[in-house]
Amino acid sequence: MTTTDICIIGAGPVGLFAVFEAGLLKMRCHLIDALPQVGGQLSEIYPQKPIYDIPGYPEVKAQVLIDNLLEQIAPFHPTYTLGERVEQVSKQEDGSFVITTNEHTVVHAKVVVIAGGLGCFEPRKPAIEQLEEFEGKGVAYMIKDPERFRDRRVVLAGGGDSALDWTIFLANIAKEVTLVHRGDTFRGAPDSAEKVYQLAQQQKIKLILKSNITRLAGMGHLQEVVIAGPEETTTLAAEHLIPLFGLSPKLGPIADWGLQIDKSAITVNTQDYSTNVEGIYAIGDINTYPGKLKLILCGFHEAALMAHSAFKYVYPDQRLSFKYTTVNGVHGF
Ligand SMILES: Cc1cc2nc3c(=O)[nH]c(=O)nc-3n(C[C@H](O)[C@H](O)[C@H](O)COP(=O)(O)OP(=O)(O)OC[C@H]3O[C@@H](n4cnc5c(N)ncnc54)[C@H](O)[C@@H]3O)c2cc1C
Repeated sequence: MTTTDICIIGAGPVGLFAVFEAGLLKMRCHLIDALPQVGGQLSEIYPQKPIYDIPGYPEVKAQVLIDNLLEQIAPFHPTYTLGERVEQVSKQEDGSFVITTNEHTVVHAKVVVIAGGLGCFEPRKPAIEQLEEFEGKGVAYMIKDPERFRDRRVVLAGGGDSALDWTIFLANIAKEVTLVHRGDTFRGAPDSAEKVYQLAQQQKIKLILKSNITRLAGMGHLQEVVIAGPEETTTLAAEHLIPLFGLSPKLGPIADWGLQIDKSAITVNTQDYSTNVEGIYAIGDINTYPGKLKLILCGFHEAALMAHSAFKYVYPDQRLSFKYTTVNGVHGF
């Protein structure tokens, strides 16, 4: 079990910056995110898009902002659980919290900060018979560790950037890679589409266009994928199917933690972004209050006020004296 001062649920920009604000006040943080990487919406949805409203940066690419935040919080050595969704937050008699993920990771923390953005990104699932039956038994919607596919037969489905990029990547790792796409042109980057066509010409991958996966079969684990094309239906032997049709956000388990929710967001007190449960805070896109703007810079402000309030919860007997970093410097752990 991991023990920490603050457990931050959500490692988007706001959750990451909260580590800095908490660190300045000598509080250690553990972050949990359902995605396999940090960065929230910025890394998942628009990594290459320039952002123009971060103070001090006339223009910064989303992923560069995340990389800079990671550098900024490095002195405070945050720890991470990635690729796991927080399912339960339960308050203990002494006022601390036990946080449990869908993979049964348990974190014990004095304070919980929910920086869950729009909620968990859940995969859009195609309509394939027995899809859910084979989840975790060959069917996966995200790739956490590409090495799992070494020397295996993998079928990918989709026509966007993720499907193209992973097809290219896995072509060098898997024994056999097949990309199935319902259209005959790709939505993803033209460069990546070109690379996929080349790999198909070189017979390093199989490319099946204008086709849909309709059925799966296997004894306990995926063994066959049935593909319906415009003229015929074929059956491919495969141990893995990775449908990549994008992700959509859902509030998910957060709605069940006894917090006051208004239209899929957590109601907070704007004095310190505390929720109706003492010791639980909500910052960034996940919270709501009169005048709320879902902007990164607003989340950063909320993180600073949250940290000062959380200090009193973590160290009830200590007095907090506010100091500028220009005066005090940044002293890591
Ligand atoms: C296309 C686009 C362009 C944008 N452009 C701008 C811009 O120019 N300027 C600007 O200020 N803002 C912009 N935004 C908005 C900005 O991205 C958000 O305000 C920002 O991402 C909020 O950060 P966050 O850390 O609160 O949440 P997020 O970035 O959403 O991160 C939340 C994280 O919490 C995780 N999570 C949720 N629930 C759980 C759970 N139960 N267990 C584990 N993990 C969980 C999610 O997986 C996610 O990674 C844009 C948004 C989009 C979509």
